[in-house]
Amino acid sequence: MLVTGASRGIGRAVATAFAAAGDRVAIHHRSSPDLAEDLRAGLPGEGHVVVQADVADPAAVRRMVDEAAGALGGLDVVVNNAGVFLAHPVTEVSYEEWQAAWHDTLATNLLGAANVAWCAVRHMSRGGRIVNVSSRGAFRGEPDSPAYGASKAGMNAMGQSLAIALAPHGITVGTVAPGFVETDMTNEHLKAPRGDAIRAQSPFGRVAMPEEIAAAVVYLASPAAEWASGTIIDLNGASYLRS
Ligand code: NAP
Repeated sequence: MLVTGASRGIGRAVATAFAAAGDRVAIHHRSSPDLAEDLRAGLPGEGHVVVQADVADPAAVRRMVDEAAGALGGLDVVVNNAGVFLAHPVTEVSYEEWQAAWHDTLATNLLGAANVAWCAVRHMSRGGRIVNVSSRGAFRGEPDSPAYGASKAGMNAMGQSLAIALAPHGITVGTVAPGFVETDMTNEHLKAPRGDAIRAQSPFGRVAMPEEIAAAVVYLASPAAEWASGTIIDLNGASYLRS
């Protein structure tokens, strides 16, 4: 299996969960070779590899996915997890900053995931599983990071379309939509004075741990999950209940 953005946070927990279940893992990163190598060396089992690419670069994505498939002898599971969260409040940033944030966010979170999916499908001749890591923000809104919310809403729609398109090929596509998770991406917010307000968004009074997201990804990648294809699983501790 291949997981993008596995050097840290949710991707790291996903890689760990799959290795613990006996899978061989291609650990992808952009610019954290040491973290990726540390993870690889510590995973249970044999045959794990580290692959690198900026997912915003289509040629690099193709090279990276082909390399992962070559090392693993094909791909059965791909998890689109790499992503960025860039602040760009509409009333505060310049026009140039606004454009840069939209460009970089969509290129990484949406186009990157779409290109990984296209490349991965070429290596899933025996069927497979694609799992996309989206966000609660696609539904609830991201006032200070509208491109992020839009990228994840696009990812949700892409997952639904591909679930239909790929079913005849034995490939399922599932999505998880986490609320706040304790990772580098959120560290700054959770440690700030407003951290308590963030934890209070959930009636459980906390945010998620990356392992809780990984558990749902493992389910969506399992043989038992064929009938869940096209689904979007909310993982937000009842902090935002959509109808
Ligand atoms: P994180 O700790 O910031 O880690 C991000 C990962 O993505 C890193 O491995 C990073 O690689 C990689 N990455 C970022 N930009 C990349 C690019 N252009 N090309 C290749 N790799 C890139 O993030 P996280 O919190 O675990 O988030 C993982 C996913 O969950 C993201 O899609 C995020 O939107 C989603 N999510 C997170 C939360 C949350 O509260 N944390 C909530 C909902 C959804 P390097 O280490 O090499 O930079």
